[in-house]
Amino acid sequence: MQTRRTFLQQLMGAAAVLAAPTSVLASGSAALPWRNWSGSQVCYPNQRSAPANLADLQTLLRESSGIIRPVGSGHSFMPLVPTDDTIVSLSRLTGLVKTDAEKQQATVWAGTRLGELGEPLAQQGQGLFNMPDIDEQSLAGAIATATHGTGQDLTCMSNYVAALQLVTANGDIIECSATKNADIFNAARVNLGALGIVTQVTLQNRGLYKLKRETTWMPIEEILENAETLASNNRNFEFYFIPFTGMGFIDVQNITDEPVTATDKLDQNDGAEDLKTARDLLSWSPKLRELVLGTYMKTLPKEVTVANSWQNYASERNVRFNEMEYHLPRENVLPAFKEIREMVETQFPEVFFPFEVRFIKSDEIWLSPFNGRETASIAVHRFHQEDYHAMFAAIEPIMQKYHGRPHWGKLNTMKAPQFAEHYAHWNDFKNVRQQLDPQGRFLNPYLASIFQK
Ligand SMILES: Cc1cc2nc3c(=O)[nH]c(=O)nc-3n(C[C@H](O)[C@H](O)[C@H](O)COP(=O)(O)OP(=O)(O)OC[C@H]3O[C@@H](n4cnc5c(N)ncnc54)[C@H](O)[C@@H]3O)c2cc1C
Repeated sequence: MQTRRTFLQQLMGAAAVLAAPTSVLASGSAALPWRNWSGSQVCYPNQRSAPANLADLQTLLRESSGIIRPVGSGHSFMPLVPTDDTIVSLSRLTGLVKTDAEKQQATVWAGTRLGELGEPLAQQGQGLFNMPDIDEQSLAGAIATATHGTGQDLTCMSNYVAALQLVTANGDIIECSATKNADIFNAARVNLGALGIVTQVTLQNRGLYKLKRETTWMPIEEILENAETLASNNRNFEFYFIPFTGMGFIDVQNITDEPVTATDKLDQNDGAEDLKTARDLLSWSPKLRELVLGTYMKTLPKEVTVANSWQNYASERNVRFNEMEYHLPRENVLPAFKEIREMVETQFPEVFFPFEVRFIKSDEIWLSPFNGRETASIAVHRFHQEDYHAMFAAIEPIMQKYHGRPHWGKLNTMKAPQFAEHYAHWNDFKNVRQQLDPQGRFLNPYLASIFQK
């Protein structure tokens, strides 16, 4: 049976026959390049280190020279990681450290991938409040860029951090929380890897729960008309729009006691060849393309899955892409979406990747893009072997006109003065960074360009 996920895979897979190159190489020789997930960021570090314990990490920081960049799973599109000096991975510092049943908190090694958290937390009767749409990220990496899922009453992951442990440039270990080293805590919950190496994170969790996920295809106009109500009436709501089809789909999730129907986030990728053929054959006529693909999408059935919460948030992303995502004041998202759609459908007929719209609750973290405002975000994508620059350059001014703040991990061209306008605590963050790392050992060229000038 055709399903939403298989179809999304197919859309993305229209170009999948052009195989993606292997990404992140995490070990060994200095001659090997490091690449991020999409392949858009590359560097040739002299040293790669994966310390086995805190003491080894402290020694590395004290005895090495040059720039040091922490890396998670390399899923950021911005040049946050690249350096020719040293890259440090916490891939050997993973797993649960301890749990507090009464507070429903868990302290976790920061190198743990999000997808590795569900089972051990469940064994302790705990679940994460929310998750992003993939679960490959390391916990430290997710927090560093304010990674988020969707849900108007749910915040980004950084806001579920109750405490964290940081190792600074001179090897000192700092513990921080709302009541201990509070300024460092406010800076470190969204830190871009610019303060030090986050080694442990204490997460505020909740009790175990199951989610019922319902995915429904509809004309995009119907989605836009109902988006506000759907966001208000469902725990998790997002929608996708498929350019040049007039169609999209909504994805809603709510807590349920119904029995589990799915435990596998991977779906078959049936029919990708057919869809690629359809796109290639119809690219000469946008109207015909919309008619054929739109008519086909209207036949796709509603898809419903019930699963343990941690198994129902993430999907596979087997076809690589580059992405721009801006976080807008919630009331601006629909006008911005309409303007971006019109521009893309007028100027970029080759686009086939979906747009994604999500809703995120405000917080008060210094560099959180959700700071002080209820937010909805728009994400746009380009196949990784296509040049994204012209399309993203055309979209970004629209995002900015509607007061968008970029996702820290996703492509944008904002500079320090613009960030300073968006973030009331910009200078507070810079002061904490200066205090913790006066020699700028964690600053690669991109981070130096925004935090040092
Ligand atoms: C396919 C795909 C889907 C995505 N889906 C979502 C989504 O649904 N929602 C969303 O918000 N984002 C999403 N993202 C973006 C992604 O969540 C962020 O870019 C995230 O930061 C990546 O985590 P990572 O572990 O790969 O970290 P990296 O990309 O390797 O690093 C990110 C930052 O974290 C820092 N860092 C890593 N480890 C440490 C450490 N131990 N101490 C201090 N700093 C550290 C790095 O220095 C860097 O600044 C997606 C990205 C991709 C490629």
